[in-house]
Amino acid sequence: MALKPTPTMSTKPLSQLKEEICDIGRRIYNKGFAAGNDGNISFRLGPNEVLCTPTMISKGFMKPSDLCIVDMEGNQISGNRKRSSEILLHLTIMKERPEINSVVHCHPPHATAFAVAREPIPQCVLPEVEVFLGDIPITRYETPGGQKFADTVKPYVKNANVLILANHGTVSFGETVEKAYWWTEILDAYCRILMLAKDLGRVTYLSSQETKELLDLKQKWGYSDPRLEKNMENCDICANDVFRSSWGNTGVNRKAFDAPPPMGVDSQPVAPAPVAQFAPAAPAAPATVDYDTIVKAVTEQVCRELGITAA
Ligand SMILES: [Zn+2]
Repeated sequence: MALKPTPTMSTKPLSQLKEEICDIGRRIYNKGFAAGNDGNISFRLGPNEVLCTPTMISKGFMKPSDLCIVDMEGNQISGNRKRSSEILLHLTIMKERPEINSVVHCHPPHATAFAVAREPIPQCVLPEVEVFLGDIPITRYETPGGQKFADTVKPYVKNANVLILANHGTVSFGETVEKAYWWTEILDAYCRILMLAKDLGRVTYLSSQETKELLDLKQKWGYSDPRLEKNMENCDICANDVFRSSWGNTGVNRKAFDAPPPMGVDSQPVAPAPVAQFAPAAPAAPATVDYDTIVKAVTEQVCRELGITAA
């Protein structure tokens, strides 16, 4: 079934859109988000035409002539190379979100570590993440490639712009290729910061008032967030309440990171971690230690004190 054209559909020439996909491919590859031939990118050209990356090609070295075009069912319309096997994931998202034109899927290591650990992404830590991403779901694991795998995103796709795919990677989407990519880059940087902060000893959560101010900004800038909707009025804005009910089905549970303080109880300043006591550095040892000389000097000193002659 063809979708009606959306008012946001791009009027850019096809050659420019192809260049944009190749450019984002290079950024994904250079960031280390797509090893080998991993990852795929797509752009909706019209009601029943989607430009996409081919299978078995490094995303860092694509030329515009490598790209293919498929219909909304995934049948290849044009292109010399075979379309990506994960295109059904992209098309499912486009069908669920008619205003979305572009989908980016890759395996960014820090976000994928959360996918493997099945650790929910803590909320209310960084302002940019609250404003641009919000609560981030982890989908149910399914063998990649088919429609069954693509369907795993359906429960979340209307309430998020980036999803973590259990034991696999990420998928993000937006009106343009660059925007679709941004959410992945922000998410992976956030996951890395969380890991580094945890290594330092603690993660400090924003207070519910501080987070509320960010949600107000988000609303003012025209970004939607399920936490701003009427049915989430009584939810705890920092407690991953938007997707929490899915955790049982997806094997997600909180282990590595503490739960944020309950709403109304602000994060207390934490005393320095007791393990972070550093011993003063020992004086540097001389390059070579001549024990015989030391023993001789000490013996002579002792003998002098005792008024006897050392042997
Ligand atoms: Zn993948």
